[in-house]
Amino acid sequence: MTEHEIHSVLGIGFGPANLSLAVTMEELGYTGRSRFVERATDFQWQDEQLIDGADIQNNPFRDLTMPRNTGSAYTFVNYLASQGRLTDYLHLNAKFPLRREYAGYLRWVADSFRDAVDYGRSATRLTVADTADGEVFRLETDDGRQYLGETVVIGTGRSPRIPPVFRRCLGPTVFHATRYLSSLRRLRGRALRVAVVGGSQSAIEIVLDLLGRDDVAQVVSVQRGIGFRLKDTSPYSRRVFLPEFIDYFYPLPAETKRRIRAELRSINYAACDQDVIDRLATVQHEYELKGSDRLRLMPFSEVSEVAPHGNGGVHRLVVRDVNTDTRGVYDADVVVLATGFRDFGLGPDDEPYHPLLADVADRLALTDEGIPAVARDYSVPVARGSYGSRPLRLYLNGLCEASHGMGDAGALAVLSARSTDIVESLMLEPDALVPDHLVTDRLVPDEALR
Ligand SMILES: Cc1cc2nc3c(=O)[nH]c(=O)nc-3n(C[C@H](O)[C@H](O)[C@H](O)COP(=O)(O)OP(=O)(O)OC[C@H]3O[C@@H](n4cnc5c(N)ncnc54)[C@H](O)[C@@H]3O)c2cc1C
Repeated sequence: MTEHEIHSVLGIGFGPANLSLAVTMEELGYTGRSRFVERATDFQWQDEQLIDGADIQNNPFRDLTMPRNTGSAYTFVNYLASQGRLTDYLHLNAKFPLRREYAGYLRWVADSFRDAVDYGRSATRLTVADTADGEVFRLETDDGRQYLGETVVIGTGRSPRIPPVFRRCLGPTVFHATRYLSSLRRLRGRALRVAVVGGSQSAIEIVLDLLGRDDVAQVVSVQRGIGFRLKDTSPYSRRVFLPEFIDYFYPLPAETKRRIRAELRSINYAACDQDVIDRLATVQHEYELKGSDRLRLMPFSEVSEVAPHGNGGVHRLVVRDVNTDTRGVYDADVVVLATGFRDFGLGPDDEPYHPLLADVADRLALTDEGIPAVARDYSVPVARGSYGSRPLRLYLNGLCEASHGMGDAGALAVLSARSTDIVESLMLEPDALVPDHLVTDRLVPDEALR
């Protein structure tokens, strides 16, 4: 690869979304040159929460490829067979595979695409550059490299949601769940009092994991709601993961989409699976019988202030009851923020678009509300400059919950259907994607690469 080779497709991030894209490009016979840039030094899937005993919430048949291609070499079933574990897995009769097992599957598939991925590089900036061949995207990475591409597919997942009260104290002892295991490893050996903020599946898994550790003295669960609530796993609600639901949802007015998403929130947010709720309720009962306060639950509560207390690295949390407005304090050595991820949209804590789009946002088609207008095929039309006739193409792979519905909230279930939509679109003539009103004669000069 030369420094300024122009790639047909530049993928940012190589998690399950862009991995599924790579599989689909190969299986549908896409012939363009593709390159992926991934921040992690090797393939990983939610490594920081690879907690013992945690399972996935997805039928493993709905893997990276199987719904489109049952004969694919990259199915979960084929993975198990290749490891000599298919019979054992079937014998286990588990509803869902362990997260560790599924991570192994994803890594096994990713190994086949190793040559297409530059690991250990974080994309920092996306701009448009002019070359002798016309306009291209230019992607810069944290190590000073740059990549050129005709099409960019962003598959980075979303940014962690950090409640404002914690923003100034993030560090080794106050961290988001996406840093859980590595942060805890560094704190090993102390009798820790840990506050876990949030009522999500991640929160309850982390509470259970902490209670299983000898060096944790106490675990406090702080959440705004009544306590860990059951996820909506009705097959009727889970229709959001079906491609036909996306077809139904996509054309609805923005306000209707917001209402439906709010109604269906407990499919994916601030809700937990029955098995972990049952486990925690049993553990809690056990502590109550023993008269132990090792586990404390603080429902209807939010942390309203955090300040250092004393010299021992303790965080004094002011915890407010959201209904009575009464306050108490809790001194924690560690605070884990199992507070989810930021949405894209116009809500109070939303991001209007992915941060990497900041320098190209003025070229993107926007909705009436001023956020990127994502088409059904997950592309965002890019206004054309006057250099060259080839339009630029941008796709959002896994970042389209507001426009495409809950299934796009990073769910594994829709990976293969979505990557099929994207690759089929990639194989169309590029002009088909740019509406006439977006063809401008604006110049975006950049002499550097000409
Ligand atoms: C703990 C946990 C468990 C989950 N379990 C399930 C489950 O069981 N079932 C389910 O359906 N969903 C689950 N999810 C939802 C999850 O979003 C999906 O499983 C899946 O990870 C989404 O894939 P993705 O590729 O879109 O995002 P990610 O998995 O987040 O992958 C994005 C990749 O992009 C890389 N990246 C990010 N920014 C940059 C950058 N600037 N430059 C380069 N690389 C970058 C990241 O390092 C990462 O590897 C879970 C989420 C979590 C946090």
